Amino acid sequence: MTAQAHPILVVGGGVSGITAALEAAETGHDVVLVEKGPSLGGRVAAFHQYFPKLCPPTCGLEVNYQRLRRNRRIQVHTSTEVAAISGAAGDFTVRLVKSPPYVNRNCVLCDLCTPACPVDVPSTHDFGMKTVKAIHLPHRMAWPPRYVIERNHCPSGCARCAEACPYGAVDLAMAPREVEVHAASIVVATGWRPYDARKLTRLGFGADADVITNVMMERLAAADGPTGGDIRRPSDGRRVERIAFVQCAGSRDQGHLPYCSSVCCLASLKQAQYVRTANPASKAYVFYIDIRTPGKYEGFYSRAKADPNIEFVNGKVAKVERNPDGQMIVEAEDILRGHKIQVAVDLVVLATGMESNLKVEGLAGLPIRLDADGFASAHLQPPGIFAAGVAQSPVEVNSSVQEATGAALRAIQVRLAT
Ligand SMILES: Cc1cc2nc3c(=O)[nH]c(=O)nc-3n(C[C@H](O)[C@H](O)[C@H](O)COP(=O)(O)OP(=O)(O)OC[C@H]3O[C@@H](n4cnc5c(N)ncnc54)[C@H](O)[C@@H]3O)c2cc1C
Repeated sequence: MTAQAHPILVVGGGVSGITAALEAAETGHDVVLVEKGPSLGGRVAAFHQYFPKLCPPTCGLEVNYQRLRRNRRIQVHTSTEVAAISGAAGDFTVRLVKSPPYVNRNCVLCDLCTPACPVDVPSTHDFGMKTVKAIHLPHRMAWPPRYVIERNHCPSGCARCAEACPYGAVDLAMAPREVEVHAASIVVATGWRPYDARKLTRLGFGADADVITNVMMERLAAADGPTGGDIRRPSDGRRVERIAFVQCAGSRDQGHLPYCSSVCCLASLKQAQYVRTANPASKAYVFYIDIRTPGKYEGFYSRAKADPNIEFVNGKVAKVERNPDGQMIVEAEDILRGHKIQVAVDLVVLATGMESNLKVEGLAGLPIRLDADGFASAHLQPPGIFAAGVAQSPVEVNSSVQEATGAALRAIQVRLAT
């Protein structure tokens, strides 16, 4: 490696990107970590608990943030996207565009700004199930710990948050800016988004407030979520007694996502346990085609099966609708019993799969190729570019971390060779 070897660029600041950045930096390599959102953490920052241990993701994030704080080799750019990349392995030239967060490093999280803000906006972190002020902390585990402003919602000329801030932290004159960096190699860790459940018209999402998705369920169970962790149905705030999980909602379906996202069964088993713990009198139904909990996760499935109040129904859900009394009914073909069944529930959770951000949003300026399902498979990438985590294939956190460590190692090898 020459004295001037360029840093490693990591695109995406979820668990995969953070891992790749830390693993490279902690072995002595400079890293530029780029996250398009205002905070690191990615999707897991919105989860209540992780399978299989059912620990809160905040623990792992906090440890990683401490490692980030300690390591001066990592330069973090949040609210930043890659606009263009040219060059080749060893010397990529990367143009970054930074969006203004309108809040600077003086922010001490005192929260004097939010009472002054006149505008309520739907919380993206809570999938619109609650509102926040236009100036807000992205989420409880936000890093960097700094408020942001959704300026597109602000009334023209309003500066009340700036006036309320005694630290000069609100800077409404901030403008987008471009930064050019050079990189020896690139790790792509752009992750996923939930499949758009509005496309599953038979299942009632969008038409009925009590049909939600699995990512929304994580927020309903979270202590900092819209119901303070008390699992209540969105339509009337009533405590959930009977809940249905609809597996493969849009997955393994040629009309939607042809592949299995590999985590949805585990996520529903985990969420059934959230409900059973929160309300021991509750009953959960899991409608499935087949339950996929490979390898070490089999024990997690066995635990759920041991609970007589988690009932597994082998059959694809045909429809979800209200009967004339207003009761929500899930209708499915029960394959093992050989007849159609109708189950009355309070809340339906659609286990929607993970869709690649790169497929939905485009390649983000990256000179990469996607496979037929929209993931950045390793064998398709040009020299010097490596994908990790769900950018590469739908996987859980443990596999994401392993892949990110592998990608960091390959990125280091390219850097050492220049
Ligand atoms: C309902 C549900 C529950 C789950 N529960 C668990 C669980 O309990 N345990 C478990 O192990 N796994 C679980 N998973 C899987 C877990 O969410 C993923 O393994 C994990 O999020 C992968 O992390 P990632 O960093 O690859 O992607 P992400 O978490 O999606 O992070 C990607 C990051 O990249 C950023 N980004 C995207 N595009 C760009 C761009 N162009 N430029 C810059 N930044 C960009 C995003 O803003 C995001 O911060 C669950 C999945 C689902 C669907």
